[in-house]
Amino acid sequence: MKERYDVVVVGAGPSGLLAAKAVAENGFDVAVVERKEKIAVIGRTCGQTLLPPNDYFFGDLFHYNPRDKKFCFPKSGLSFPYSGPIKNLYDWYMYSPGMKRMHFGYPEGYTPPMPGMLKAPIALTYDKEVLTADLLKEARTAGAEIFENCEFTDITWAGPETIVIAGGKQFRCTYVIAADGTNSRVVQKLGFNNERRHITNLFVKSFFVSGFKAPVDGEPIVTGVNIYQGKPVYLFAVPRPVGGDWNLLFLTLEQGIDIGAAAEQIMKDSPFAQYCKGAKIKRELAAMEVIQSPIVKPFKNNVVIVGDAGSCQELECLGAMITGWKGGLAVAAALKEFQLGIAPRAIADYCDWWLNTYIKQYDYQDYLQVFGIAYMFPKPEIIDYIFSLLNQTFPPTFNPYTSVKHLGLAMQMAFPRIMAERPDILQDLVPNMLAFPSDVLAKTLKDK
Ligand SMILES: Cc1cc2nc3c(=O)[nH]c(=O)nc-3n(C[C@H](O)[C@H](O)[C@H](O)COP(=O)(O)OP(=O)(O)OC[C@H]3O[C@@H](n4cnc5c(N)ncnc54)[C@H](O)[C@@H]3O)c2cc1C
Repeated sequence: MKERYDVVVVGAGPSGLLAAKAVAENGFDVAVVERKEKIAVIGRTCGQTLLPPNDYFFGDLFHYNPRDKKFCFPKSGLSFPYSGPIKNLYDWYMYSPGMKRMHFGYPEGYTPPMPGMLKAPIALTYDKEVLTADLLKEARTAGAEIFENCEFTDITWAGPETIVIAGGKQFRCTYVIAADGTNSRVVQKLGFNNERRHITNLFVKSFFVSGFKAPVDGEPIVTGVNIYQGKPVYLFAVPRPVGGDWNLLFLTLEQGIDIGAAAEQIMKDSPFAQYCKGAKIKRELAAMEVIQSPIVKPFKNNVVIVGDAGSCQELECLGAMITGWKGGLAVAAALKEFQLGIAPRAIADYCDWWLNTYIKQYDYQDYLQVFGIAYMFPKPEIIDYIFSLLNQTFPPTFNPYTSVKHLGLAMQMAFPRIMAERPDILQDLVPNMLAFPSDVLAKTLKDK
């Protein structure tokens, strides 16, 4: 351990490891403090998809380069080796409680319109433990010092110096990068949460299983809206990148629900049970997320915020990686500006980039609508009816922001038919559809 670092990165997820790589590659001293005992062992649920590989996301075009086994971001100039398996996924099916379905993907028999064009996947499924191990190696090779089992607990500012307390040790540094994820303690210590809106909490349990059979042929991503004890519980089923195993995720915003019991019931006694009949659980993971409005300016008191630490719910791994890389470069440039005695601009540029590329482009209300479906359409029978109206094939996407826009448009088109067929449900629908998703979901907190 050094007496002093240029930068301390808190958190060794995808954003923190790439931030550390960016700073260390510029020759600065970096310490990464991580509370987990083994960084590359993942205990927190993640769908372990990378999305979207068929569109711009956070200003970049992500893709897997199979020749060199690398993940590449051509606009940011970032690339790094990934030594694990991937599978391309092309379809996303969403099921209502009564198994009416919506489809995002390609129409049957689709071929690209011109030679040289791709039938691009909507997401990749990959192994996050391999990715994390590879990123850890990248950060170490670049020169970052890694401290595992080293939980951040406090931060103080002493003139030009920042003091981070982690794992009972004192780390003195110039800059801190907060990459400690969605329930960030650094962000809380900075006082940011006082200015954010606490919308709801998300409770998750997930399983890697063998023997699951999707309701349609092939290897689609499947989302199911279930009602358990009168409350919504979502199922996401994602193929694992090798063999025939699946990642089954059960999610609820309802604190009163025992998510383990809900998962068991959905697998044993629900319309999804028939697909889970042969499922054998191989591994169990869990997560809890505090969902808050995003941070608009990701810098305060020499702390730069990257990844989920500053977002509403989550940036997705790609968003986390790109912000980690950009935030790390900004800090490296800021350190250089100081050495050269030139006017500082790198951190302000990062804040502008965050504002223009995240806050202004990706409305967190859109993101929340993914979970809002079961709350906007208040009865299972209405969810079934709405899904039955939206049974066309939507464009190929698993991007939450894009998919809700397609759904919103389709709902508008369906309104005349709803008025004609089911005027009785319009009264139920309209107030929720006009409300902000954050207001609708915030009720889950008030109802406790
Ligand atoms: C249920 C669920 C499903 C998801 N599915 C997908 C998906 O399919 N595709 C996708 O792209 N994204 C998905 N995500 C989101 C994805 O997991 C995150 O966006 C991504 O991991 C964020 O990276 P990060 O580095 O910002 O934070 P994290 O990955 O959360 O990493 C933060 C790190 O900081 C550490 N840490 C936390 N507190 C401290 C502390 N006090 N001291 C030291 N270390 C600390 C943590 O242990 C962790 O290692 C999902 C998330 C959830 C909850």
